[in-house]
Amino acid sequence: MKTSLQLYDTRLRKKAFISASNETEVRIYCCGPTVYRNAHVGNLRTFLLSDLVIRILHARGVNTKLVQNITDVGHMSEDVGDDLVQESSEDKVLAQAESENRDPFAIAREYEQGYHQDLRSLNISVADNYPRASECIDLMQNLIEQLIEKGKAYQGGDGTVYFDAQTFSTYGEISGNRLDQLKPGHRFDYHDDGAKKFHADWALWKSAGGRTQMVWPSPWGIGFPGWHIECSAMSLAFLDGHVDLHLGGMDLRFPHHENERAQSNSVVEEEAVDNWVHGEHLLFEGRKMSKSTGNVVLVRDVAAKNLDPLSLRLCFLENRYRSQMDLTWEAIVAANTTIHRWREKMHSWENDGELDEGAVAAETEIILSAVEDDLDTLKAIQRIRFLERETTISPKTKHQIFIRADLILGLDLDRRISRDLTLPPEAERLLEERQIARLSKDFHNSDLLRDRLLELGVVVKDTQTGQVWEILD
Ligand SMILES: [Zn+2]
Repeated sequence: MKTSLQLYDTRLRKKAFISASNETEVRIYCCGPTVYRNAHVGNLRTFLLSDLVIRILHARGVNTKLVQNITDVGHMSEDVGDDLVQESSEDKVLAQAESENRDPFAIAREYEQGYHQDLRSLNISVADNYPRASECIDLMQNLIEQLIEKGKAYQGGDGTVYFDAQTFSTYGEISGNRLDQLKPGHRFDYHDDGAKKFHADWALWKSAGGRTQMVWPSPWGIGFPGWHIECSAMSLAFLDGHVDLHLGGMDLRFPHHENERAQSNSVVEEEAVDNWVHGEHLLFEGRKMSKSTGNVVLVRDVAAKNLDPLSLRLCFLENRYRSQMDLTWEAIVAANTTIHRWREKMHSWENDGELDEGAVAAETEIILSAVEDDLDTLKAIQRIRFLERETTISPKTKHQIFIRADLILGLDLDRRISRDLTLPPEAERLLEERQIARLSKDFHNSDLLRDRLLELGVVVKDTQTGQVWEILD
């Protein structure tokens, strides 16, 4: 079933219509966070991609299923020098646990919770599933067994199981990095030390060596999974063997997505992913956001300046996802002003004049068509700005158009300015607790919290984008 949403496919190098191959729902996989630190706003820009896709498809009545992995084990840190990216043998989560002198799983859970809070702050739709790597070890081992049986993987002299890259003839279609162009030791897991058949082979199951934490027994000895196999295992298991749309940041094209494609295709013996779509990097005040340059900005930094976190969302929407945008504090402050102005106007427009249903339908279609064309959110925002000033449309009609547009934009344009002030203080904490309960699928606790909130006069409803609340009169 072809949808009317078109996105630029990195592998096909052209725009493609997104389809629901099983005729019922578009199956989406989006590479998730490695939970050893807080996601910065550049990471969150990538995670906004799946949200926009879901909102657009839902607006057209198309069902979706979104899976996003939580990497809590197996993601090795990189040494970046010149243009070389070399995976070192240090696990990101374990390294952080060591530096904080804490249990690695405690670290992972803490940052995972922070990640969900950030998503909520930006009104990013909740995925249907957030499988954790550490809880899907059996799925990964099963996939590795299949790859070995099919002659696509082997155990090296060092005990580690490697993918046999030369068995996958179309390696490089996503990024253009063909195997024959790759030099030994360049951008790969470990240096070539004789354990592998070919320098570009990558680890599926790493032998524990001296490592004692976050290791599991396996048919190939005690060890832990490689990062790339995680996404193959989870996407195929949670999306019934096929991915209609695979999302992720530009930096994941190679080697992560090339390796994932090789693994998944080798198991299902066809293209496991129909469309690969990538979001561009974010610059902050002209530089790449990174820990080493010291210009990392978190959602909480925006909130700490008394700016609505959704100002970030508006900034992102004012740039196409495939353009390398340069975010500045000035732009965030300007977006904050715009959002507040729109909310105030919405309030004053609500009951002013006659409602023109025809105009509402026509304008909603203009906005939806814009975003359906490779997420032209900039065009949608420009239309909103134009409508704000338009004098031939009644305020009441504008109010309705903004409400419809906000189903895609997700800027809470209908939020009452004074709403936050009227929430009982205790209720705020309970709402937070309930969000967390829902995310961890603790429905019993979530129902108890709903009842306690009702006692405080707060009615909670669950929607596609999370819980919303109202205060009883
Ligand atoms: Zn991934």
